[in-house]
Amino acid sequence: MSTAVPDRAESPATVVDALIIGAGFSGMYQLHCLRDRLGMSARVLEQGDGVGGTWYWNRYPGARCDSESHSYCLTFDKDLYESWEWSERYPEQPEILRYMNHIADRFDLRREIRFGTRVTAARWDARADRWTVETADAEGGAGERFAATWLITAVGCLSSANVPKLPGLESFAGDWYHTGQWPHDGVDFSGKRVGQIGTGSTGIQAVPVIAETAGHLTVFQRTANYSIPARNAPLTPEFKRYIRENRPAIRELMQSTPNGHAFAIADRSAHDMTPDEREAVYAAAWEKGGLQFRATFRDLLVDKAANDTAADFLKRKIRETVKDPETARLLSDIDHPFATKRPPIDSHYFEAFNRPNVSLVDVRSDPIERITPTGLTLRSGAEHALDVIVFATGFDAMTGPLLNIGITGRDGLTLKEAWREGPKTYLGLGVAGFPNLFTVTGPGSPSVLCNMPVAIEQHVEWITDCIAAMREKGVSRIEPAAEAAEGWVAHVNAAADATLLPMAGHSWYLGANIPGKPRVFMPYAGGMAHYRRICDDVAAKGYEGFVRSA
Ligand code: NAP
Repeated sequence: MSTAVPDRAESPATVVDALIIGAGFSGMYQLHCLRDRLGMSARVLEQGDGVGGTWYWNRYPGARCDSESHSYCLTFDKDLYESWEWSERYPEQPEILRYMNHIADRFDLRREIRFGTRVTAARWDARADRWTVETADAEGGAGERFAATWLITAVGCLSSANVPKLPGLESFAGDWYHTGQWPHDGVDFSGKRVGQIGTGSTGIQAVPVIAETAGHLTVFQRTANYSIPARNAPLTPEFKRYIRENRPAIRELMQSTPNGHAFAIADRSAHDMTPDEREAVYAAAWEKGGLQFRATFRDLLVDKAANDTAADFLKRKIRETVKDPETARLLSDIDHPFATKRPPIDSHYFEAFNRPNVSLVDVRSDPIERITPTGLTLRSGAEHALDVIVFATGFDAMTGPLLNIGITGRDGLTLKEAWREGPKTYLGLGVAGFPNLFTVTGPGSPSVLCNMPVAIEQHVEWITDCIAAMREKGVSRIEPAAEAAEGWVAHVNAAADATLLPMAGHSWYLGANIPGKPRVFMPYAGGMAHYRRICDDVAAKGYEGFVRSA
């Protein structure tokens, strides 16, 4: 006789109005909006044991912000905006993490945040018009269950670490680390043979700092990259005064530019100048440093010939800096237009290759074949003995963090299935078939092409206004119409195709860094200011493109 074994009784769920996943800028501001502005009950579920998101996890050597500090902050609250003073042009990770904790303290956010709590599944319960959410605790055991009318993902775009599946990694006798999961008590490189794989924004920040203490640092480069000097320095008293006296104007500028930075893009073409005049513009921007280099001409990202003028200048700078001719050749042998991959900014990256304890290995022509107990071998059979491997190999960007949650929407549709051919969202804010789910800086929104706090503030405020409007009207369910999402995806593709961005065929913007991931240009390239107007218009038209039911 067979006896059906009944399911273990489910523990009762904690019921709240809204659940927010992630306690970085997005999650904290979203909590403040829902709890303190709308008076809703809300919880934030956070895997880490502290707030900070990206800045909680990315503690690698040299980690600092690429946006200038006076623009890398939340501006919604006058006192918060005015109370924080940054020390440097590009603050280091510990200073940014202090700022994030300051936000949590200031708005008393921690009491609603469940730390050490990883979301393992989220399911739409159509009978109850709400989400049920399962979690795991820090040890991986079953954690608290939740139910909520609204589910808001605030998981960041770059939070799912990509460790390449290199055979033999488990056999490595030394230590290995991914930059996005860095040990909190640091890593001692003194005298060690260190191998770093990856030369994106992260790797370029890490190299000069690791080189200071490592016995030897070998940098394994697959794709050569442009980089512009950050020219980081402590902020002068005069600049601090300028910030204090001009905050409203700085905020207005950030909200009016396509990329959310506190500088305007020059309204001139690179073709409007003689080569000598252009050279002078680039030289001045190089001396000034930072992402402003990209703003020297309005056509750098839409006109290949214009872009070539900047690319040629930057490649020449690499060759002038790096003394060994073969190393200089490899570092400047860049195969994509400038800024079609996210342009790194650095503090003495190329200079580091002039040190006797730093060497460069080209793994484009001779790829890494396997990790061995004592280091790694290349396809040619060349062996590199290593004590430590640093994976600066990036992230399963934008979709990875969302797909990892295990979200199931209406009629059993999983997000994985809905996004089989690539992410499909409406405005990067919501997904057809997933009622009452909002994705802060989701795929299809400007997000990573923008100074993140600017993008985050806009999304959180739009979501808050939308939820407030739905509550007022007694709407219990809202989701994008499938046609609206299709239309938006087409618009996102068209916006990318109007630029040179898709020309970097191996970029993470396209998902090309993850084997098997659909090749779709994920962020919205139409510009933050334009995007903001579209979102405002959708709201003004009664949330056009969304389907609602009472
Ligand atoms: P990334 O840009 O994706 O760079 C990863 C690097 O690892 C690339 O050089 C890549 O080569 C290489 N790589 C990956 N798998 C490899 C393999 N199997 N073998 C050899 N090389 C391999 O990642 P990231 O540098 O972490 O930066 C990601 C994004 O985070 C940035 O673009 C930026 O938006 C953000 N970020 C921001 C800051 C900041 O603001 N302070 C700092 C760091 C990062 P390929 O290019 O050939 O794929």
